[in-house]
Amino acid sequence: MASITMFGTGCAMVTRCYNTCFYLQSEDGGIMVDAGGGNGILRQIEASSIDYSDIHHLFITHCHTDHIMGVVWLIRKISPLQHKRKYSGVFTIYGHDEALAALREMCRLMIPAKICRAIDDTIVLHEVHDGDELRVGDMDLTVFDIGSKKMKQFGFVASLPDGKRVAVTGDEPLNMVNEHLIAGADWLLSEAFCLYAHREQFRPYEKYHSTALDAGLTARVLGVKNLLLYHTEDHHLDTRRRAYAAEAGSQFKGNIVVPDDLEVITL
Ligand SMILES: [Zn+2]
Repeated sequence: MASITMFGTGCAMVTRCYNTCFYLQSEDGGIMVDAGGGNGILRQIEASSIDYSDIHHLFITHCHTDHIMGVVWLIRKISPLQHKRKYSGVFTIYGHDEALAALREMCRLMIPAKICRAIDDTIVLHEVHDGDELRVGDMDLTVFDIGSKKMKQFGFVASLPDGKRVAVTGDEPLNMVNEHLIAGADWLLSEAFCLYAHREQFRPYEKYHSTALDAGLTARVLGVKNLLLYHTEDHHLDTRRRAYAAEAGSQFKGNIVVPDDLEVITL
């Protein structure tokens, strides 16, 4: 059974939960998406049922701190495990040119040279381009440029062995140039920075983010079956699940999931 394990569900500046990143798992493979903003990714992985030795593929959406910094920590963790033979095979990190260049430079400056030498050896940086098709385990991924106005950012649609399609659309409102890829998907994973009702407090539109209401409207327009909301503010974590689902549900009648950190969602 395919699933998503949420390592984190928050936006960039959260302190009460971890930044949005997760592990998409199918029967015979899995891919981690982003790694949050720092060392907390190690705690989140260790608190989950995913083992470091399970993580052989990671997709970086873009270079913002809350998505890429945790990847440096993951390299720092996995490279020594490879050395000690507690992790077999290579660790492949997918990203566009800017993301991989930033990662390479951060690793050079921030982690010991001995660990860094694993890059291009047992840690493979795989550059992806708009429209690329990737095979990860038993999943087929179609990579796309989300058309960000802020910073180059990629997402993908994963086709699972049972035919289900999971759309990972990054942390910005969906650019309709990608509508044809995502329409009718089984799962739309969408950012929802805050409730529309709280837009004056959190100012999502100034940061080029969506509200739960906007995400619900997009899900309806695209005719997806399930909507998962993440990358939220952290001032309402105790009421988030119900309030975000209710607001998105005013636009979208399909299934809405608003997970907490470490929640596992069956797809
Ligand atoms: Zn972000």
